[in-house]
Amino acid sequence: MEVNYIIVGQGLAGTLLANELIRQGKSLVVFNDPDQIKSSDIAAGLINPVVFRRMTKSWMVDNAFHQMEETYRQLEGLLHQKLYYPIPICRILGQDDVALWKTKALANRLGDYLDMEPQINHQYDGIATPFGIGKITKAGRVDIQQLISSFTEFLRKKDSFRNEKIDFEKLQIKSDMVCYKDVTAEKIIFCEGAAASFNPYFKKLKFKHSKGEILELEIPGLNLNEIVSKEVFVMPVGDDRYRIGATYRWDELNMEITTSAREELLSKLNDIIHELPEIINQKAGIRPTMHDRKPVIGFLEEIPQIGIFNGLGSKGVLLGPYQAFQFTDYILGNSTYIHPEANINRYFKKN
Ligand SMILES: Cc1cc2nc3c(=O)[nH]c(=O)nc-3n(C[C@H](O)[C@H](O)[C@H](O)COP(=O)(O)OP(=O)(O)OC[C@H]3O[C@@H](n4cnc5c(N)ncnc54)[C@H](O)[C@@H]3O)c2cc1C
Repeated sequence: MEVNYIIVGQGLAGTLLANELIRQGKSLVVFNDPDQIKSSDIAAGLINPVVFRRMTKSWMVDNAFHQMEETYRQLEGLLHQKLYYPIPICRILGQDDVALWKTKALANRLGDYLDMEPQINHQYDGIATPFGIGKITKAGRVDIQQLISSFTEFLRKKDSFRNEKIDFEKLQIKSDMVCYKDVTAEKIIFCEGAAASFNPYFKKLKFKHSKGEILELEIPGLNLNEIVSKEVFVMPVGDDRYRIGATYRWDELNMEITTSAREELLSKLNDIIHELPEIINQKAGIRPTMHDRKPVIGFLEEIPQIGIFNGLGSKGVLLGPYQAFQFTDYILGNSTYIHPEANINRYFKKN
């Protein structure tokens, strides 16, 4: 079988890149290891254009937001599924946050994404907001799990999906092509998430993945139709269910769910709501992250048949579509630009 590209991994990164390449008329086969837990299986799907800690814009958001909306709407049409839910995030403010919200929002030009004036008297049933809330108006969530499973079916129907792990021993890199079993392609692009740490071609890259855990809870009667955030977010997903997240750990990169993470999330949730919720499930995953928290995109200088699209970190839903769109332009030769902060070349620069 001859195709333009082999894509390794069908998490969010592989899905978005395959979608863009197919839209541009390219042929491909996606290999996905069914035995690995994807970060994308765990992700809440939150879209937040603002970094609350510093009250600044999220990296590249002015470019990424528009493309994000465009891509998920295109995918909704392609897959006949509702995937994108634009809903505001309401940040519960502390006493000192009200003045800070106004000054930082102005100084950091956040006006496109949030209400500049906090709502001092905003009230919810069952949630204390003594100093009001600040509202991020351009925010929401994407149902990543639905997106990925529907896209797998789409690929299967095109005979473009293999439910198997790529074994590096069996990969043959030739001067102008790559061969894997019966598939021959111009290039192979790795979208392996955190597993890229074990890829022999990317030994020079500096990964700094983080483990995260989230809870899904049932809270009848809360009736939230906005995402509420303080130290954790409370995201409504329908049928009285809410996702609460997320924890960050850099020292224990495994998929085990832990009591300590559950207690941390519940204790932070308790600062927002006092009802005792029913825990439906708890999940753990590893966010694929680089040392500088920027994505890693491009082809190896010495083996240009091998590429990577990874490092989406905790912002994959917002950043992924724009990065996939840009990278596709690069792959097709329509552009020679990969953002220098995201370019794989940063790991190969000689001092
Ligand atoms: C608790 C938690 C909460 C999160 N919440 C959010 C959120 O609210 N919003 C947000 O934007 N992001 C969130 N994220 C981050 C988000 O999950 C990632 O940005 C994104 O899903 C990464 O996608 P990926 O495709 O790079 O990796 P993955 O989803 O991990 O996918 C990699 C895929 O590659 C496959 N693979 C690996 N090696 C091979 C091989 N050799 N052969 C074949 N297949 C292979 C794996 O099986 C896997 O399917 C969260 C993450 C966690 C852990």
